Formats: sequence, structure tokens, C-alpha cells
Amino acid sequence: TRLTRADLDALPSYVPGRNVADLVRELGIAEAIKLASNEVPYGPLPGVVEAVTEAARGMHRYPDLAALQLRDALAERYGVAAERVVTGCGSVALAEVLVKATCMPGDEVLYSWRSFEAYPIIAAGAGATSIRVPNTGDHGHDLTAMAAAITDRTRLIFVCNPNNPTGTAVRKPELDRFLAAVPSDVLVVLDEAYRELVTDPTVPDALETYADRRNVVVLRTMSKAWGLAGLRMGYLVAQPEVATAVRKVLTPFSTSLVAQAAALAALAQEQEVVRRCGLVTAERDRVTEALRKLSVDVPDSQANFVWLPLGDRAAAFGAACESRGVIVRPFQPDGVRVTIGTPEENDAFLAAAEAALNA
Ligand code: PMP
Repeated sequence: TRLTRADLDALPSYVPGRNVADLVRELGIAEAIKLASNEVPYGPLPGVVEAVTEAARGMHRYPDLAALQLRDALAERYGVAAERVVTGCGSVALAEVLVKATCMPGDEVLYSWRSFEAYPIIAAGAGATSIRVPNTGDHGHDLTAMAAAITDRTRLIFVCNPNNPTGTAVRKPELDRFLAAVPSDVLVVLDEAYRELVTDPTVPDALETYADRRNVVVLRTMSKAWGLAGLRMGYLVAQPEVATAVRKVLTPFSTSLVAQAAALAALAQEQEVVRRCGLVTAERDRVTEALRKLSVDVPDSQANFVWLPLGDRAAAFGAACESRGVIVRPFQPDGVRVTIGTPEENDAFLAAAEAALNA
């Protein structure tokens, strides 16, 4: 007899980037560089640690269930009604709740592949069936093929824009066409975890462009540009009927006291966020050029990472970088994702990459 579902045995686990302390110990080196989890490298935003410390004094009490003050601040910043905003324990938890709120066992969740590695895990957890549409030869979403893959079991579609791990982005005309082709009873989740890093003006901001559509949900996070990965704070903007359903199946109090305080303090630092994102995107373009000079066919990235389509050499490349003290994220057998760090970190990666490619 077994206690847990048999179908979970075959499900791959979420694999986080390798731990820095671990690698330092293994190699006996002074320090390692981690470019594997798409964090922005500049530390907490000014004032956020203080806000968290202050809020922590109230930790013996539950936080506000609906994170009202934070919800209001997000609603005001993005020009939407507060009832349409839901916050949660990272946007990954909200993605999970969206699947829970839409899918019964056997229903289909559709997404491009490769994309964010949590999507298959989330779908399987809800007993839903994953339908993966292969990326185009340019490593982007094939929205035409995705529209064609919709069936009467499809309940939810993830469009990851920009796409993790390839960095590619879909543009407005293709997204317009796709949304027009999706049946009105299928929910489209536009996952914009990396929106703040987008520099191409033809890539639409979903909150500005699509949030008023009845079957669209926009998913955002404060883990990347806003520097709160360790505190877990994501949010979504949906139509009121969808937001209400999501709140019903959301774990109660899933935006912690400190996450709420940190997010409010971070929102007050938007100018600094914009400045930091500018540094990162300039470095992204420099690293892309340098890798292309090394004959790696890196697609244009609109996020804070780049994709090296090394195919089945991905794992070996990842191991070679690690042996030189730089942790990257290989996705065998497709490629390697490398987060953009500080200029010094990126130089260290480029040196490791050159050595690894010539090995
Ligand atoms: N969506 C995408 C596309 C991501 O890359 C990530 C983080 N890797 C997330 C969602 C989840 O981020 P978080 O749970 O930290 O908000």
C-alpha cells in the first residue's frame, strides 16, 4: 500500500541553483559566484531592512489577511481596482492557486516548453494534464501552435513573457492575435516575473495592455527587480470574479507580516529599482555580445538572464563553470541559463565560459 499518489513518483522535483557555501567547501576556494536564480545582484533596497525589522516586532500576531495596505499601494501604482489585486507567497504560489481555481483532475494546462520549470509541477500537483508546445527554433513561444493546441479540456494557459529560461519575449501583434483566438472560458496567465527588465518597447506591458480582458490574469513578483526573493511576495491582477475565486483557495495569511512591510517599503523605492534595472540590462547586452563572439548563439533577452542553447553539452558546460567557482543553471539537454550579475561577476562568468567552451 502507498500513502501518496503514484503519479508523483515520475514528477521531476524543482531544482534550485546550487548552494554557494556548498561549492566553496567542495572546491576549497574563498568564494563562489552564483548566477543561477535570476536575482538582481545589488542587495536589499534602501529602507527595506529597517521596515522589516520594525514590522517583525509584531510577529506574534497574524498579519492582515488580505494585505490591505499593500494591495491598495499596488492598486494605486498600477491603476487598477484594489479588489482585483491578490498577493501571495511568491508568484509561484499564485500560479499554483490559479491552477487550483480553474482545473479539475484531467483538465489541461497549456504552456510553451521550455519555460518556467514550476509549471509542470504545479499542473501535476492539481491533477491537471500538462500540454507542452515546443518553443520555436528561435527559443520563443510558438503562439500559433499554442492556439492550435487548445482543446475543450484546456482551462488555463501560461504565457511567460519574457520567457524563463530563454529570455525571449512575445510582441504585441502576436499576443493580440493569440488572445483573440483563445476561447472566452479559458484563463490566460501572463507571467511577467521579469517585466521590469524589458527594454524593447514592442513588448507589451500586460497591466497596461491586457489587464481589462475578462480571461486574462497578470502575474508579477517582487523577487527579482524589487529584491525580495527571500521574503516571498508575488501578486496578480485579475478580474474581480477571478480574484474572488483565487482568494477562496489561497492559503490563509500567505503574505507574511514581513513580506507585506518589505513590499510596501520597496514600492517607495521605484526610482532606485529603475536605476538598478538599467545597470542589469546594460550588462545583459554586454554579456550577450561577448558570448556571441565566443560563437554561442544567444537569443536576444528581455530579462535579467541569458540563454546559451548548448543542447546536450549543457550539463558539461554547467559543471565546467562550477569547477571555476561560477554557479549557472543547466537545463539538460537544451541549454544553460545564466543570470546577469554585477560587472565583476559577469566578467568571472565570461572567463569561465570561454575556458569551458574551449575545453
Ligand atoms: N514566474 C517566472 C517566470 C519565474 O521565473 C519565477 C521565478 N523563478 C517565478 C514566476 C516565481 O517567482 P516567485 O515565486 O519568487 O515570485
